[in-house]
Amino acid sequence: MHYDIVIAGGGAGGLELAAALGRKLGRRLGPEKVLLVDRSLFHIWKPTLHEVAAGTLDIHQEGLNYSTLAQRNHFSFALGEVEGLDAPARTLKLKPIIDERGELVVPAREVSFTWGVLAIGSGSNFFGTPGATEHANVLEREADAEAFRKKLLTAFTRAAFAERKQLSVAIVGGGATGVELSAELLESHQVFLAGVGPQHRFRLDIAIVEAGPRILAGLPEKISRQATVALQQKNIRVLTGTKVEAIEHDRLKTSAGDIEAELIVWAAGIKASEGNVAFGLDTNRIHQFVVNRKLETSAPGVYAMGDCAACPLPPGESGHPSFVPARAQAAHQQASYLAKVLLARLKEQVTDEDFVYRDFGSLVSLGEHKGVGNLMGNLSGTNFFVEGLVAKWMYMSLHIAHHVAVLGYTHTAVLALARLLHKRVSGRLKLH
Ligand SMILES: Cc1cc2nc3c(=O)[nH]c(=O)nc-3n(C[C@H](O)[C@H](O)[C@H](O)COP(=O)(O)OP(=O)(O)OC[C@H]3O[C@@H](n4cnc5c(N)ncnc54)[C@H](O)[C@@H]3O)c2cc1C
Repeated sequence: MHYDIVIAGGGAGGLELAAALGRKLGRRLGPEKVLLVDRSLFHIWKPTLHEVAAGTLDIHQEGLNYSTLAQRNHFSFALGEVEGLDAPARTLKLKPIIDERGELVVPAREVSFTWGVLAIGSGSNFFGTPGATEHANVLEREADAEAFRKKLLTAFTRAAFAERKQLSVAIVGGGATGVELSAELLESHQVFLAGVGPQHRFRLDIAIVEAGPRILAGLPEKISRQATVALQQKNIRVLTGTKVEAIEHDRLKTSAGDIEAELIVWAAGIKASEGNVAFGLDTNRIHQFVVNRKLETSAPGVYAMGDCAACPLPPGESGHPSFVPARAQAAHQQASYLAKVLLARLKEQVTDEDFVYRDFGSLVSLGEHKGVGNLMGNLSGTNFFVEGLVAKWMYMSLHIAHHVAVLGYTHTAVLALARLLHKRVSGRLKLH
């Protein structure tokens, strides 16, 4: 099997790239020249995983089928997990597909390419914390979020019928994921309580445990202060300067003592797959593929983008090397950049432009009607502070922008309406 362009990983970046290339090449050339490979049959935009975990977003409504996306955007799709690369032969190796009964569905395959793009994302970084792998929940994949949702509902039910009438949840990491998850969990709790009798009401105690001096460390201090106040007003405990030293099945062992928790979520930092090291490309300490400012890896014809790539930013005032952040915003911009580069390559032209990351700011959701964030960031040199419903709407618009990139305006509008109507009928919390 040979394609001009093979993209491994159809996430926030890879799918947008495949859709942009396919739509530009058209119905006839697109499926012939562009192949997207993903280990999953359907796409879910990763920044929504905390909502899936809290049950406030239905994964069956949110997930978009790759085959349909491929047909609509004129690229080819293959289900498969990439496990290796033969860089000189420009070939990707895909694992065999095995079903639940252990029977072989598709044997191991190879896909050759003229230009390959690695966009296989990242996972969690436990920083070697003892017990984290065994006892903490993560939000790396749709299956993790679904598994957590089921545990959460069981824990809600247990607490509603237990004598103690309390459930404790500890979230390790005060970044955007931890903060947004805490607010979302509170909403699930409120919806759940509304459906049980008063005698079954229970208290939900959420603690965000952050080793650094403040939450949302990557954002301006004002936003971090504002978010801390908003969370504390919702009775969420924000424990900064508290380092998690070990995790046991019912508690965190921290620098400030034990924190009991029935449910523990790890949301403190990313690390790319260890398997990346076997690809024979230059990788860094957290297994990201090292790329230059054209997103080229150490092998000719092989690019990497998104969370799995370490792309240097131009030298700043401090002189310390810094990298494009692992964010959906960066993956989106890299997809647009690579679409231009690869379309030029197909026409046997070469572009000299480097990838330039533009920080348009960050928005954090603090529940159904509240958000907080800054806009414009480095672009104009000015930071506009936004909060409340406006920030929440802007936050939602990022999700919509991703859908527009892969579905177009009309389908995005139809989908948004269908979801709204579904929520009206089925309720806000996915209980089944
Ligand atoms: C809960 C949560 C909330 C977040 N919120 C925000 C936010 O508000 N704003 C923001 O900018 N960023 C946010 N992020 C970060 C953002 O989701 C990532 O930076 C972004 O998704 C990275 O895009 P990507 O394309 O590199 O990888 P991903 O979107 O992770 O996609 C990787 C794709 O590769 C596939 N894949 C992985 N390994 C293989 C393999 N070996 N073979 C084949 N396919 C493979 C996966 O199935 C997946 O489809 C959040 C992340 C999380 C977990």
